[in-house]
Order: sequence, then structure tokens, then C-alpha cells
Amino acid sequence: MTVKTKTKTETRDMFVGGKWVQSRSGAVREILDPADGALLARVPESGREDAAAAIDSARAAFDDGPWRKVTAQDRGKFLFRIAEGLRAEAKKLAELETRSCGKPLAEAEFDVADAANCFEFYGGLATKLHGETMQVPANSLSFVLREPVGVCGQIIPWNYPLLMAAWKLAPALAAGNVCVLKPSELTPLTALELARVIEAVGLPPGVVNVVTGPGAGAGEELASSRKVDKVAFTGGTATGRRIMAAATSNLKKISLELGGKNPNIVFADADLEMAVDGALFGAFANQGEVCSAGSRLLVQRPLHRRLVDAMLKKVPRIKLGHGLEPGVKMGPLVSGAHREKVEAYIKIGREEGAKLLCGGKRPAGAAFAKGFFLEPTIFDEVKPSMRIAREEIFGPVLAVIAFDDEEEAVRIANDTEYGLAAAVWTKDVTRALRVVGQLRAGITWVNTYHPSHNEMPWGGYKASGIGRELGLHGIEGYLETKQVNVNLDETPIGWY
Ligand code: NAD
Repeated sequence: MTVKTKTKTETRDMFVGGKWVQSRSGAVREILDPADGALLARVPESGREDAAAAIDSARAAFDDGPWRKVTAQDRGKFLFRIAEGLRAEAKKLAELETRSCGKPLAEAEFDVADAANCFEFYGGLATKLHGETMQVPANSLSFVLREPVGVCGQIIPWNYPLLMAAWKLAPALAAGNVCVLKPSELTPLTALELARVIEAVGLPPGVVNVVTGPGAGAGEELASSRKVDKVAFTGGTATGRRIMAAATSNLKKISLELGGKNPNIVFADADLEMAVDGALFGAFANQGEVCSAGSRLLVQRPLHRRLVDAMLKKVPRIKLGHGLEPGVKMGPLVSGAHREKVEAYIKIGREEGAKLLCGGKRPAGAAFAKGFFLEPTIFDEVKPSMRIAREEIFGPVLAVIAFDDEEEAVRIANDTEYGLAAAVWTKDVTRALRVVGQLRAGITWVNTYHPSHNEMPWGGYKASGIGRELGLHGIEGYLETKQVNVNLDETPIGWY
């Protein structure tokens, strides 16, 4: 994506302090459709100074604006109206999401519905936040208040642009915080549409700000600014490390949702047909650009050959094309640079001696010439020590690893720096729960892959992150805890 000087045509503004503005430098970035290279829009290319201005707006909205006095009931109503606004524009938003990041339309439609549900879930939760009280030894009424953390810097990736924005904004607003959201520089358009919906429901100026631009500059300012009380980040593990270091400036609160190299474990007694679907969907949904993708398929040896053959029979059904075309099941990767990164891993896999079963190349034909397409790729005979079995590729590349017994499966499953998601396929419920109990991962599935619920906590063990999003746990990171002690004894303490 090239950075160009501002022109008048097709240039969007970003949302800061309740106003639609350009970047201070006037620089803009061209946002292109990764399926055909069409120019979708130009958006402001913010630098540190733009993020700082948005942080100041948010600070003023939190410290001096009317937002702190808005009741939980009214915060909830705002969130319900945002959900309604998203639903009213669902078709347009889904199409824009598909054009922005390449995913098939059916997946984008699901994301928009899920984003609306997320605002509704937290709209309902706004009125259910409560403190606590305990009997303490002194003659004192002691109780606990839950309060908003304050100004939240929220940085999100390009694979679920609208949904990640909802996951960040909804709990933060329900808890009474103010936000500066920075979408990925590659996919800012649906976050800007969300800002329009938010403007229409009448949140006070500065409560939600959306700053477009790259991590270097705008993102770094959000992570390092002393005026930001919390940084909430979703993205790569290497970036997460940098954000954590930057957050030490003022020891701001931090939550990190990072990468994964997730094991999808199939035991020999699993239902073959279900496991085949689960393996393919786990690896190739959203082009494999999913933090929780089942990118390592661990198969017990007696089923190995049959499972691999059955997968190979189904792979041709994964129709590639522009996500808006009917029947397409896999769109392009998000950018040329990202496709090159994935292709580099395919080369590494070959060099490491893994057996390429299918894919591994760009699809041929005029329909694919202008997009960043890559065929669904399966490597067999992968060893747990290989880089393609250890490092997050974040594309349509599946590594198949055979194992003998449960103990070996668990050992291989846990043997990466990540711990985001994992699945187990077996008809033996006792084994399923025994294995789940040993998996070092924050999200686990039995006989399914990928379903995720706004009501349930999302996040990882180990280098996959810190904290949890969604559900009741997801709002915890947006709340401070204050103890209040009221002396009920009317005699002076007489200490001196
Ligand atoms: P990325 O880390 O490159 O970028 C994510 C965001 O961080 C972008 O907005 C980017 O502009 C910003 N950024 C980059 N450098 C920064 C810096 N130094 N300071 C502040 N901000 C900075 O990730 P990506 O390529 O956009 O997304 C892919 C990654 O996201 C994958 O690793 C994937 O696993 C992860 N992810 C995790 C989850 C989860 O819930 N755990 C969900 C989706 C994606």
C-alpha cells in the first residue's frame, strides 16, 4: 500500500473528538481490494501527533466531559443502538469487509452479525456490573466499587477488522471508558463506518476516536503515551512484545491477544467425516488468516492415511475467487507482502523435508492475476521440530503430524511458545476431557473447530497473550477496583 500526498477524490476522514478530520501532515494511504487491486478509498495516514491529538480528546472526554455522568442504563442503551445501526447497514458493511480484507462474503456477513451481537451482549452487561461488600474486623462499612480504567488505546489487526473493533469498543464503553481505536493500516474502512454509526447514536464527542495509520507512529503513541491508562492490543506476538515494553512508560494496564500455532488433534476413533470437515475448516476458513486456526493437524497413525486422503478429495471444493462472487470459499490473502511471507514458509517447509500434498502455489488464470491468491496448501510428514510446525504462518498452510498415543499427542500439542486454541476429535468423552485438561491453551474444542461466543472468554496461555476478551472476563480488563471504608465508630482513635 503506497503512501501518497492527499488528493480530494475518494479521501475519507478519521474520527477524532467528534469531528471528521485529516492527518496533520496531509498524508493519505491508498486502500486497495486485495482480490483485484481496485482502489477502495484513501484514508489519513496518521503519525504520532495525530494519535496524541486523539488521546487529548479522549482524555478531555473522560476527565471533563459529560460521559462520566452517563448512567449504566444509558451506556447500555447507546450500545444497543450501535448494534441496531450495524444491523441496519449489515449488507453494505459485509461487502466492504470482503473488499477490504478479502474474506468470502458469507464469512463477512457472519462477522457483522457477531459484531452487533457483541455490542448487545455488553449493552446488557453495562447494568450488571457490581461491587461487593464484606464484613471487616473494624467497626466499618467496607465495600468495593468498580470504576472505568479511563482512556483506552485499542490497536487491532486486519483479519477481522470490524469484529475486532467491536470486541474492543463494546466492553470498554459498557464499563464507562473512553477509547482511541487504531485499526490496521491495511483495513481501516469498516472501523470508520462503525465510527459513523457511533456518531449517529450520539455518544459525547471524544468518547470514541478512530485514528487510521500505521503501527510505527500512531500505534506507538497509543502504547507509550503517559495519558493513556490502558492499551488493549490484538496482533502479532512480536508486536505484542514491543507494545508491552512501550507500556512501561506509565505502567499502563495492558491486555494482549496474540498469535497461535494451534493443534487440532484427531484420535483414531474420531468420526472421520466430521474430522475431515473440522480439519479443513479449522485450517482454511478466512484463508487461514485466523489467530486460532488449526494450523497443526495431529493425527493418530491408524487414521492418518484415510484422513489425509479424505481431505485431499475435498480440497478442490474450496473455490478461490473474489469474496463477493457466489460460491467462493477462499479469497485472496490481505496483501502482496503477506502472501510473500506465507510463500516463504512454503519454501521452508519443502526445504525442511515436509511432503507437499497440495497447493503451495498461486492459482493460474486471469481471474487471479491482480489479487494476492494462494492455493490451500497441505504438508504431510511434518516433524514437530520443523519451523512450519512451530511458527505462525497465518495463511492457508496446514502441517500434518502423525502421532502414536495420547501422551505423545499432548506433548507435541503443547510444544510451541503459543497457547491460544486447540481441538480434540474422539468419540471417547473421558479421553476428550482428559486431553483438554492437559492442553496449555485458552480456547479448546471437542469434536468441532472455531465456534466462538461473545458470552465466553477469549484469549491465550503462554506467548499467545495476557488477559481475556469477551464474556464476563472481557470486561474485567476495563474496570478498576476501589475499596471504600466508612468509619461507623464515633469515638476518636486516641492513638497520640
Ligand atoms: P501486527 O502485529 O502486524 O499489527 C497489529 C496492529 O498493531 C496493527 O494495527 C498495526 O498497525 C499495529 N502495530 C504494529 N506495530 C506496532 C507498534 N510497534 N506499536 C503499536 N502498534 C503497532 O499484526 P497483523 O499482521 O495486523 O495481524 C496478524 C496477527 O494478529 C497474527 O499474529 C494473529 O495471530 C494475531 N491475531 C490475534 C488474535 C487473538 O485474538 N489472539 C486475533 C486476530 C489476530
